[in-house]
Amino acid sequence: MHALPQPAPSRAGLALAGKRALVTGGGSGIGLACARALSGAGAEVTVLGRREGPLRTAVAAGAARDAIIADIAGALPTLPACDILLHAAGAAESAPFLESDDALWQRMLSVNLLGAAAAMRAVLPGMLAAGEGRIVAIASTAALKGYAYVTAYAAAKHGLLGLVRALAQEVAGKGVTVNAICPGFAETPMTEESIARITAKTGRGEAEARAALARHNPQGRLVRPEEVAAAALFLCLPEAAAVNGAAIPVAGGEV
Ligand code: NAP
Repeated sequence: MHALPQPAPSRAGLALAGKRALVTGGGSGIGLACARALSGAGAEVTVLGRREGPLRTAVAAGAARDAIIADIAGALPTLPACDILLHAAGAAESAPFLESDDALWQRMLSVNLLGAAAAMRAVLPGMLAAGEGRIVAIASTAALKGYAYVTAYAAAKHGLLGLVRALAQEVAGKGVTVNAICPGFAETPMTEESIARITAKTGRGEAEARAALARHNPQGRLVRPEEVAAAALFLCLPEAAAVNGAAIPVAGGEV
């Protein structure tokens, strides 16, 4: 889907004026908050996801100027050249380890790890040719520690962090940085789905299930998507040029 370019407000003087950003998973939750933050800093943002509706809404709301409907876990279309890749697309399925089958593992690895690698491989040549670029992956606290019942998700997110750290070494000195943000449980549709699953499986009330997730965070609350986006935006600023291969927790002190 390609939207008509919106009348561009004056962006001169904004920190990311003239930069092109691709935000996967930009139609909802953390990705949408990142798209808003990058757009607000002057970047020309394209959002990518599978569902047209949320992407259209993001464009209509001014969080992005263009949208691409694509499944990051499948064959990717040609991605537009970009100065910033913010990979927020992801999915979290839960199951006791002994009930997690190959298909679940494949789904978790495809979207959270292999999709990230494919997107990075697609945009990196342009960044290297330009001598500058920023890659930010939204990983998770599950990239830094384990949680019960999400072995495949945690393995994929640990893998994503390995990818970020290794690629950061590979491109160091070439003007490109590669970093990860590790949010704790956040106020997004993904967490709403987790709460619904917990409620359905345990019979606990919704408030109780939400509170159980919030208790992981020493601040006793869910992280706001805007708080994750603020950290992501920082990594895209010129001032963050020396931050490379980092895993920045946004989790209230959980990790
Ligand atoms: P969300 O609103 O469900 O966002 C996930 C986004 O990824 C959606 O916009 C979804 O759009 C997109 N997506 C999922 N599968 C995709 C695929 N195969 N191809 C392309 N796009 C796909 O939940 P969120 O919490 O903001 O999640 C964003 C990221 O933060 C994820 O990587 C997640 O693992 C990570 N994270 C979340 C939390 C949390 O507590 N919520 C904590 C730590 C890390 P479509 O469905 O339209 O494709």
